[in-house]
Formats: sequence, structure tokens, C-alpha cells
Amino acid sequence: MTRERARRELEVLEKTYPNAETALAYDSPFTLLIAVILSAQTTDVRVNLTTPQLFARYPTAQALASASQSDVEAIVKSTGFFRMKAKNIIAAAQGLVERHGGEVPGDREALEALPGVGRKTANVVLSVAFEAPELAVDTHVFRVAHRLGFTLGTTPRQVEEDVVKLVARDKVRHAHHWLILHGRAICKAPVPLCAKCPVRELCPSAPIVARALRDKVSARALGAVGRGAPAAATRHRGQSS
Ligand code: SF4
Repeated sequence: MTRERARRELEVLEKTYPNAETALAYDSPFTLLIAVILSAQTTDVRVNLTTPQLFARYPTAQALASASQSDVEAIVKSTGFFRMKAKNIIAAAQGLVERHGGEVPGDREALEALPGVGRKTANVVLSVAFEAPELAVDTHVFRVAHRLGFTLGTTPRQVEEDVVKLVARDKVRHAHHWLILHGRAICKAPVPLCAKCPVRELCPSAPIVARALRDKVSARALGAVGRGAPAAATRHRGQSS
């Protein structure tokens, strides 16, 4: 993949998703951080249904730091893994209060030292709340970056490094949203909708997907012929006797 081809692919995605931004509802770095922790293994929609009640009750890191585990569990239950998530967000709030005056720090090391915060969560917070040139790699970014030919990486970290090298610094934090939105809408798993894709003329995977689909259709047709052959042969024998 050349930088020029990547630039052209991203240009198309930028035009396709001009207002791309996080789908998580938040109004501060603190509410964003908690929403991102809760979003693991669930949808942004589900998180957005949960956080209004959580933040009405615990609007600050100080308030959440002294919350009872059972109360928080009850509120976040529908997001899945609720015991672990409740424990992590309370502990993260305690870390914010103890080490950062209740504020969310804008540096990776401090963020990743908080319970429940890994590299992906830190990258979302840094890129969305602090507008830093960081790229969080989730399942959509991982898949679409491979299909567009940006990377052959086998880990999220490798994919992140490969994509960041190809993208202009001022576009990195936007590229995260373009790839996610494209993965959700068009470049779906397991079968991408290449016929509807605005990047198909540039995408190295488009011919591969088209060939795979053709092979599948041919295999089905051959299967139908195979299943139909004995009946046809029987009919033929019946007619000739
Ligand atoms: S052409 Fe197909 S594989 Fe390539 S980005 Fe578009 S949907 Fe994905």
C-alpha cells in the first residue's frame, strides 16, 4: 500500500462520513472515559441508554469514587460484564480523585494506569476529549484497515502503527471514526457490501471479494445441477422407454 493510495482511500471515506464522531454520549472527559469503559463488549446505543442514570446519580469522579458497588452494578447491568465494569469505573474514579484532583489526565501513561483502561480506551479518550493524533483500533478498524490494504498486522497495536504511518497527522483521530462508520455501514463482517462501497475502485480487497462471491454462486449452481442430475436422468430414461 502506498501512502498516496491510502490518502485517496481516506479522502473518499472523509467525503462519505464528513461529520464522523463518537456515537457515545458525553459532556466531559470524565463522562467520556466512563462511557468508553462501559462500551467494552456492547454497543454505543446500549451505553447511551445507561449513562444518563449513572451520571445523574454520580456526576463527578468524586461522587463515583464513593459509590456503592451494588448500586453501580444495578445501573450498568444491561451493558454486560457489569460486576467487573462497576468495579472498574469506581476504581478509575478513585484513581482520578487520588492522583489527578478528579480530572481526567491527557497523557497515555496516566490513563493506562487507571483500572479498566487499556490502550484502546486511552486512545479514544486522548483522540476525542483531547484531540490528540491517536487511533483506537476496535474490531471495525481492524477489519476495514486490512481490507483497504493499510496493514497486514495481526495485533491491534500493529494495525494502529501501520495505519498511523499512512495517515496525515491531522487526520489520524478522524480516520478512527471513518473506519468504524464504514465498517458498520458497508464493509461489514463477514461479507462486505462492495457493490455499494464508494472506495471499491481503489480497494485491493474488492476483486478478491467479488471472486469469492462468484465462486460461491458457481458452487451453488453446481450443487443444484448435481442434485438435479439423477431426477433428469430418471425422467430421460422414463421418456425413452
Ligand atoms: S470495496 Fe468492499 S472490501 Fe473494500 S472497503 Fe469497500 S466494502 Fe470493504
